[in-house]
Amino acid sequence: MTRKVNRATAAVWAGEKDYRAHGATQVPVVNSVSYDYTDLTHWYDVATGEAAGHIYSRNTNPTVASFEDKVRQLEGAEAATSFATGMAAISNTFYTFLKPGERVVSIKDSYGGTNRIFSDFLPHMNIEAVLCDTDDHEALEEEIKKGCKLVHLESPTNPTVKIVDIKRIVKAAHEEGAIVVVDNTFATPILQSPLTLGADLVIHSATKFLGGHADALGGVLCGESKLVGEVYHYREINGATLDPHAAYLLLRGLKTLDLRVRKQTENAEKLVEYLQTHPEIADLFYPGLKNHPHHDIATEQMRGYGGIFSFSLKGGMEAVRKVLPRLKYANRAANLGAVETTVGPANTTSHVESTEEELVNLGIPSSLVRYSAGIEDFDDLKDDLENALSILEN
Ligand code: PLP
Repeated sequence: MTRKVNRATAAVWAGEKDYRAHGATQVPVVNSVSYDYTDLTHWYDVATGEAAGHIYSRNTNPTVASFEDKVRQLEGAEAATSFATGMAAISNTFYTFLKPGERVVSIKDSYGGTNRIFSDFLPHMNIEAVLCDTDDHEALEEEIKKGCKLVHLESPTNPTVKIVDIKRIVKAAHEEGAIVVVDNTFATPILQSPLTLGADLVIHSATKFLGGHADALGGVLCGESKLVGEVYHYREINGATLDPHAAYLLLRGLKTLDLRVRKQTENAEKLVEYLQTHPEIADLFYPGLKNHPHHDIATEQMRGYGGIFSFSLKGGMEAVRKVLPRLKYANRAANLGAVETTVGPANTTSHVESTEEELVNLGIPSSLVRYSAGIEDFDDLKDDLENALSILEN
């Protein structure tokens, strides 16, 4: 009897054995720009895609291929290709599919860098980016119906963890013949499978949860072979290739993805429960909260609410400046998804390029703090937060 491999097992074993060498139990870092062929006919066959193999590491590399294969299997995709960063995965995908005169429909709450592509770069190419309120699914459907080539979604969003009903928007997009791309960075393949929900392509900033140790940058795109192949071609020529060292670190991090994401989710859920009744908290955003506007959709399309929540304090930015430096078990840094708890104000991290007015339009309180729970012991994290917040009592 064969059955689908569980994600926890796939995280450890997928994409490993085909890439090992010399009988070693671990995939090596292949530090080679190119590959030696004594049989010129074979070299020609590999170079023309008639035979499997590697030619030049800007195109493909065995360590990088192992990383791609593992993520591909975790996302249940036909194909995967990787990039130097998450932003390269997003931008290369946009530039592959969008042509002058076409429209892209997305949400206002995409990651700040993605929003900058919409506002600062696509207009140069006469591509219109229409950004709808993330909560307004009707508006998204209407804009899609007006004609669009690509729909870009992110769910949960950064930093207010809003949820988009992926199946619903996919239906509207496919009626219009549009490609749907989902940035699955916050959920990870452990908690959400956008391809199963009907999306065409799924993207990750592998820098975050996939690698999980805040020591390597990377991006990855998964989906049907034809679409992924087109983006691969753009990337191999334009050159935003993932480095084999980074691929190795990401590959090693991925083995513990399931364990880490479960622990981070458990810590986030319990910390949110604790903060809910804390007198200094003004706003608290987490899809696991029953009063979250899309709690039901999150419950339906996710297998857990994730390791990230955000909050604002009644004392505003002044209170945030007092509280964050007191945390013992958190890096105050522009990152998320690492084994260490990581915190930072949205106006300094994900939305550093947004004006005060833009933050208001996005419903982001100006003193919002993003909290990415690590894998530390819950009691230690709670005591740490309690102690840090106690400064506001006086
Ligand atoms: N997508 C999301 C949701 C992110 O949070 C980020 C970065 O924070 C990115 C994409 C960009 O990833 P990278 O920093 O690897 O380019």
